[in-house]
Order: sequence, then C-alpha cells, then structure tokens
Amino acid sequence: AAKTAGRNTARFFSAAMSMAAEQRLGMELALRRALERQEFTLVYQPKIALASGRLCGVEALLRWRHPERGWVPPAEFIPFAEEIGLIEQLGAWVLDQACRAIAGWDDTRFGPLSIAVNVAAAQVNRGDLAAVVDGLTRQHRIDPGRLEIEVTETAVIADTDRALATLNRLRSLGVAVALDDFGTGYSSLMYLRRLDIDTIKIDRSFLMNAHVDSRDGEIVRLIIRMAQTLHLSVVAEGVETEEHVAFLKDAGCDMIQGYLVARPMPLADLQDWIAAGHSAGSRPPPKLTLVS
Ligand code: C2E
Ligand code: MG
Ligand code: MG
Ligand code: MG
Repeated sequence: AAKTAGRNTARFFSAAMSMAAEQRLGMELALRRALERQEFTLVYQPKIALASGRLCGVEALLRWRHPERGWVPPAEFIPFAEEIGLIEQLGAWVLDQACRAIAGWDDTRFGPLSIAVNVAAAQVNRGDLAAVVDGLTRQHRIDPGRLEIEVTETAVIADTDRALATLNRLRSLGVAVALDDFGTGYSSLMYLRRLDIDTIKIDRSFLMNAHVDSRDGEIVRLIIRMAQTLHLSVVAEGVETEEHVAFLKDAGCDMIQGYLVARPMPLADLQDWIAAGHSAGSRPPPKLTLVS
C-alpha cells in the first residue's frame, strides 16, 4: 500500500510539475503575443501637491488585458516577464507609450503633463535605458524633463555601478529619477549617498497606520525630514483617507498619490478628471523644499 501511495504521489508530483511547466509555457507565449496583439495598456494615477492641490504629474501603471483571464495585475506578470527576458522589450513599449501620451497631450487645455514610468531591474542593469529614453524623447519630440523614472532599491542592488551610471546619464538628459517604495529595500541610505535622485516615494506600507501607530508614524516623519534636509521631493503613496492627509500635512510631506485623490485611469479619463477641476492648478509646482 505504501508503495502504491508512493508511486501515486510520485505520479501526482510529476503531473503537477509538468502542468506547471505547461502553464509557464502558456504564460510565456501569451505574454509574447500580448505585445503583438496590443493587449497592454497604461493607466495613469495623479500625484498632487499637498499644500496647493495642484497636479504635479501622473504615474503610468501597466495593465494587461488577457483574452480569457481578463485584467492581470502587474505583480502577476512583471516578475515573469523579467524571468523570461521580455522586460526590456515590454519596458521599452511602456516608455514609448508614455512619451506618446506626453507628445499628444494638449497643454493649453489641460496644463503640462509629466509622466513617471516604473522600470525593472534588468532595464537599469542590462539594457541601455538612457539611450532608449534619449531616442524616444527625440523621436516624439518631447522635453525629457516631462519624464520621470521610478526605480526601486532592489532594482539598483544587482549591479550598482552600472545602475548608477545609467541613472546619472538619465539625469544628465534632464529626466527626473525617483526612488520608489522607499524604506522597503535593504540599504536605502546607501542609495541616498550614492545616487543623485530627485524624489523619494515613501512606501504605502509605512503610511497605512502612520496616523495610529507611533512607530510607523515616526518613520514616515523621519523620511520626510531627511528628504527635506537633502533637498529631495517626497511623495507619499497609498493615501486612502483624510486621516492620512492630515498626518502628512502635519509631517510636511510635499506630494500625495493614492485612491483618495484618484485611482489609476485611462488617459481620456485623466483629461476629464482635470477638466472637472479635480486638481487645483495646471502648472507643475516648483521643486519644493519645505512645506509648512
Ligand atoms: P508601484 O510603482 O509602487 O505603484 C503603486 C501601486 O499602488 C500601483 O499598483 C497602484 O495602483 C497602487 N495604489 C495606488 N494608490 C493606492 C492606494 O491608495 N491604495 C492601494 N492599496 N494601492 C494603491 P499596481 O498598478 O498594481 O502596480 C503594482 C506594481 O507593479 C507597481 O508598484 C510597480 O512596481 C509595478 N509596475 C506597474 N507598472 C509597471 C511598469 O510599467 N513597469 C514595471 N517595471 N513595473 C510596473
Ligand atoms: Mg512606482
Ligand atoms: Mg511605489
Ligand atoms: Mg509600492
């Protein structure tokens, strides 16, 4: 009986493994086809200045509409795209879309638009991201200053010197660089020493209970104070409640982004959102140093 069970177990196990391999293959094919079939799209989430309510820019977030599975969130396919070596191509598509959106944007009706684009580790460490961005901004004839690159600490970890060179080249093109999910990586402070960045984005996990949990609250205050001291802009992400806003105002945070302000939305909805007067101004704010 034990032998049979053992054999059954073995058979089940290998069946599960081949299933997984099959699923992986299916996923890989689906992802590669998705690019050709234009199943990807970008949605945009506003970022506003806390003091004035003015729109400072938007973050572009990738969405995949799978023909059978419907909307697949980026957390489910971006790591996989990285694994199969598709992220550079996908990332270039995202950058192209963002540049296209900036180029086609009607400044006179909606005010100038800046778009922040998330990039993966491989884009910073392997491909020539700066050359890709340089080419695209020229091709679409847009001011590179309208573009911001969001990079995570973990993306910079793999090959720090290469990553630093890439990010410095981007900045010399006039592209802004933000350190995303700040505080969740291993050595945030080392990056602040070595990286010439413009903005820090405080990870949502710190903010969630910052107004009730004194430890989280102090961490958020500390990050904001540190950003001010280093003359960096600071964005709080995942702002969901008025309590979050009150806390962040008191802590002197520059900018906020989150469901309370707006959910990520298609470009056309963003225009309606702005036209409806949801943001209190149209000019991007000057580099803020201190907000009281
Ligand atoms: P992220 O860059 O930290 O983006 C913020 C995430 O928080 C987004 O999730 C956004 O929809 C979500 N979010 C915004 N406000 C709130 C809020 O108030 N509450 C909550 N609970 N969530 C909020 P999303 O779109 O699922 O993206 C997840 C992650 O996937 C992103 O985190 C980013 O790391 C990655 N990602 C998204 N688009 C791209 C892309 O084009 N390229 C690369 N490489 N990564 C991307
Ligand atoms: Mg981001
Ligand atoms: Mg983030
Ligand atoms: Mg995050």
